[in-house]
Amino acid sequence: MRKGRLFVISGPSGAGKGTICKEILENENIRLSVSMTTRKPRDGEVHGVNYYFVSIKEFQQIIEERGFLEYAQVYGNFYGTPKMEVLDLMKEGIDVVLEIDIQGALQIKEAYPEAVFIFILPPSMAELRKRITGRGSETEESLARRLGEALNEIAYIDKYDYCVINGQLREAVDRVSAIITAEHSRVSEDVYKIIERYKEEM
Ligand code: ADP
Ligand code: 5GP
Repeated sequence: MRKGRLFVISGPSGAGKGTICKEILENENIRLSVSMTTRKPRDGEVHGVNYYFVSIKEFQQIIEERGFLEYAQVYGNFYGTPKMEVLDLMKEGIDVVLEIDIQGALQIKEAYPEAVFIFILPPSMAELRKRITGRGSETEESLARRLGEALNEIAYIDKYDYCVINGQLREAVDRVSAIITAEHSRVSEDVYKIIERYKEEM
């Protein structure tokens, strides 16, 4: 059976990572990993759907149990990827998308170098500010913190395999989908099994 691939998507807050991921998940062979966070839920966010919202104590407990594939402190809160869920899905042949920050992506790169790393860029800093303000999710302080980090985050782009500028949403989604399709066309173990079958047929 085909093994699921791991796709890591990062980029500054407000670039459109969440919006793009939601569109990609229309494909049934791919899932978004639900992270755990100590951040408070935003209006409309649902426990178990957007995040597992937990206390700092609960988060620390999972760190001690080595239950995270990666975790990091981002914009003043903790975020982490629960390990078992991701590994089980990949074993079942399902692709998993991690929408995580750069610190987390670097941890994944260390442990799973075969993962595919995609960076989402906004078309301009003015548009980034407009989107994150328009989302209406942040306090003044959090907004300033997130915008202030954007250029520092972009400086890590050379650690990624692909970058996609999210100008027109449709085009950005098509590009990310194309990356996923292309990665499944790589010459890999699976293709050698197919070639063995050809030989048996001769
Ligand atoms: P992130 O997950 O990177 O923080 P979001 O997906 O929450 O960003 O997007 C931030 C805001 O920008 C949301 O209000 C979203 O609807 C909007 N948005 C996302 N992509 C586009 C786009 N291509 N054009 C215009 N607005 C967008
Ligand atoms: P937000 O608070 O806007 O939902 O997310 C803030 C940042 O945390 C984003 O850059 C997002 O990609 C990152 N993030 C979300 N979940 C995780 C996670 O599980 N691990 C890490 N390292 N970062 C995460």
